[in-house]
Amino acid sequence: MVKEDKEEKRSSVELYMLRQSIKRLEQKRSFNMSTSLVTLYIPPKTRLSDITNQLRDELGTATNIKDRATGKAVASALQSIISRMKNVINGENGLVIYCGMTGLNNMEYHLIVPPEPVGIKLYMCDSTFHTDHLKEMLEPKKKYGLMIVSRGGATFATLTGTTLNIIKNEDSYVPKKHKMGGQSQRRFERLVEEAATRWYNKMGEMMNQIYLEDYPVEAIVVGGPAISNSQYLESKSIDYRIKEKVIGIYDVGYTEYAGIKELMGQAQDKLADFELIHERKLMNRFLEHLGKDTGLVTYGEKAVRDVLEKGAVDIVLISEQVDKVNITLKCNDCNHSYAETTIKSKYDAFIKNLSDMKCPKCGETRVEIKNENDFVEEINEIAKSSGATVEMISPSHEDGAILYNTFGGIAAILRYKVFEY
Ligand SMILES: [Zn+2]
Repeated sequence: MVKEDKEEKRSSVELYMLRQSIKRLEQKRSFNMSTSLVTLYIPPKTRLSDITNQLRDELGTATNIKDRATGKAVASALQSIISRMKNVINGENGLVIYCGMTGLNNMEYHLIVPPEPVGIKLYMCDSTFHTDHLKEMLEPKKKYGLMIVSRGGATFATLTGTTLNIIKNEDSYVPKKHKMGGQSQRRFERLVEEAATRWYNKMGEMMNQIYLEDYPVEAIVVGGPAISNSQYLESKSIDYRIKEKVIGIYDVGYTEYAGIKELMGQAQDKLADFELIHERKLMNRFLEHLGKDTGLVTYGEKAVRDVLEKGAVDIVLISEQVDKVNITLKCNDCNHSYAETTIKSKYDAFIKNLSDMKCPKCGETRVEIKNENDFVEEINEIAKSSGATVEMISPSHEDGAILYNTFGGIAAILRYKVFEY
């Protein structure tokens, strides 16, 4: 089995919330569709005083913008960023700042500390906020080893996201078998086999060097013509840590680059599966406890809130499909207050319709928001205060779909049994 990825800096729930904020930022438009929304990417180690000076320069040129309303909007966005700069600290991943008017009197300011170092320096005014570079950081980043090996040669590559990197092509010195006949034929064949063994041993050592030392990978797939019949992977020269990382073996017709491409195609599903191995292990742990009736798991919103309150939870599993926001509304006419639930993607529309919303008690349209709670954020806060962690589970695999469809989208793995009297 392959070790779980422990080096992930941000927890899955933090990445989930960041993804949700990006989704909302993407939908924002400048108030009059002018190019007045400011996007600012600040790389790590950049002095913020330099950025402030640059923004002051931009402020000077904003007065030259032909359309006066646009010029004013850009200027006030810049001033808004500059005035906050004193309180901002640039850390090891840099910063991303979004600022601008999305409504006539609605200046928005968003500061994001990205999960990975900002690789570009960017200042941009547009009718939308630019999120591409930030989104790239949230894409799967596991590194895989792809290897093609046969008696004729070997090719080593790595794959990260969609980036394929050919590391090395190695030509073999194993002679081709051909007919000689008689005694010398058998001797020749024995020599060929000995050469093949040496060749495979050498490739095993190279595999250790490349995938353990030079380009450490999380998992490896191996391909080659008739690889499944070869003894290659049983070679003693291959480190046990490398053997543990091999998650697939594929018979591939081609060698070298074409072989790697073919292998990539064949192993696609396996690799996509591996991306989610951490999530699947968590779900399996939950289902196993449930099946054995150990009393160490529970599910459904009410039950999970209950065990969280008792401080008994180790891990909370939440389906990414649960994106509800709980809103408490209050009628200003009759004082009636009531609860509504919306989902994040419809949140903005919900707010827009607020002025037309009728009070269910008196029918007047003077309803306002008293209180609102993002479900995942709320559960995460409760979990943190009791020492539990929250893990987001995507619905893109079978076990993940079960969490939403069968268990109400939320479940908990407990530290100890909670007895009910
Ligand atoms: Zn009312």
